[in-house]
Amino acid sequence: MKEVGIFGGTFSPIHLGHVAAANRFYDALALDRLLVIPAFSPPHKEEDGESTPEQRLEMTRLAFEGNPREIEVSDFEILSGGKSYTYLTLRHFYSPQVRLTLLCGTDMFLTLDSWKHPDEIFSLCRVALIRRERENPATEEKIAQAKRLYEEKYWASLLDVLNDPVEISSTAVREKLRRGEEVAELLPPPVLSYIRAHRLYGIPDGK
Ligand code: ATP
Repeated sequence: MKEVGIFGGTFSPIHLGHVAAANRFYDALALDRLLVIPAFSPPHKEEDGESTPEQRLEMTRLAFEGNPREIEVSDFEILSGGKSYTYLTLRHFYSPQVRLTLLCGTDMFLTLDSWKHPDEIFSLCRVALIRRERENPATEEKIAQAKRLYEEKYWASLLDVLNDPVEISSTAVREKLRRGEEVAELLPPPVLSYIRAHRLYGIPDGK
């Protein structure tokens, strides 16, 4: 049985919080393979209109280039087009020879019940939670409630990936880029070079 991880997102742009989460997930679960899958059009988000799906795919590839782990950036959702539903992606990668584990940051983990066909999601994979910020009692209470709900309603198999949270979001990165602020500590260097070369996210001239 191969251990295969799935890490989906908008990745607009991919940042060092995503990379740290992917690496931690891979190492903590001793994965054989990790698929990082940028969404074409995420059902939960407005399109930001500042990078194309192909550019997000390319930046995601750049972020993992040279990574010694078996991490593959998949174009499955981007080539599929339309809304990117996780249950369809899991169906595509599922086989009896693999065990799938889906990685979710706290925000995504808390919304799983409202995704399309959560019953199918929980039956096709285990779900691993990774924290995005340092412990906060109110969030921990929400996490505990969500875990109880998923276990009782869907017989979910849930895991915690313990990490030292890297508090970065793509929203904050985009805002800083637009304002011409320093983002070198937030992005993998080839991703920042790509953003500059393609003048993405309203980056001011000369930056
Ligand atoms: P935005 O600010 O645009 O909402 P984001 O930073 O949340 O973007 P996404 O592409 O939406 O990035 O996230 C993809 C997945 O990565 C989600 O499961 C999300 O919870 C997780 N994630 C995002 N940032 C981090 C982080 N700093 N640490 C751990 N997980 C993260």
